[in-house]
Amino acid sequence: MNIDSQGWVQDPRVRLAISPNIERGPMTLVRGIVVHQTDSPTATSTLHSYRSPGANGAHFLIDRDGTIYQTASIRKVTWHVGPLKARCLAEHRCAPTELQALKKFDPRGEHRREMAKAHPDRYPSNQDAIGIELVGQALPVDALKDDDKTFEPVTSAQKASLKWLVSGLCRSLGVTMAEVFRHPVVSRKNRTEAETAVWQ
Ligand SMILES: [Zn+2]
Repeated sequence: MNIDSQGWVQDPRVRLAISPNIERGPMTLVRGIVVHQTDSPTATSTLHSYRSPGANGAHFLIDRDGTIYQTASIRKVTWHVGPLKARCLAEHRCAPTELQALKKFDPRGEHRREMAKAHPDRYPSNQDAIGIELVGQALPVDALKDDDKTFEPVTSAQKASLKWLVSGLCRSLGVTMAEVFRHPVVSRKNRTEAETAVWQ
C-alpha cells in the first residue's frame, strides 16, 4: 500500500477526504487497528460531522457500497477508542492485585491502569491505533426500549473493502492481524458494534 509522507494512502481505491478537525497531534507508531460502526445514516452525514470544530472521528470511513474514504492522516492521532478495558481479563492473565482492583466498577481507573502498561499488555489506544468506521446504524430492537439497540449488518461490499484496507495497512505498518479489534472488545461500547465485520 502506497502511503505518502503526509500519512495519506495514495491508491485509486481510497478517496482522500481529510478532516483536520478530527486530527489530534502526531501518532509516531501504529500498534493496532480498531473497527467501528458509525451509528449514522450515511457516509455524507459522517463526513459532514467531521468538519465541525472539535469533532471526533477515525482515520477511514467505509460506505455501504464499499467506497473507502480516508478522513485523517495515519500519522495523526484521532479520538475513536475511548477508555480501555483490561486486556488481561479477556486473556485470562491478570495478576491477583489487578483482579482485585477490577472488582470495583471504575472504567476511568481501569483505563488509567491500562495506559500505564506497555502494548501488547494493553489493547491499542487512541495514541497508537488506526480507526476504521463502517457506515451503519444502531436500531432499536424494541421501539419502546430505546437503550437496547442493535447495529445493522455490515454489507458484503464493506467486508471486501475492509479486508483489502486492513491487510494493506497491516503489511505496510508491520501490524499483525492479532492486533485488529472490534470496538466493543477494547472499550465499553454496544456489544453489537461491528459484530458482523470480518477482515480475514
Ligand atoms: Zn466505535
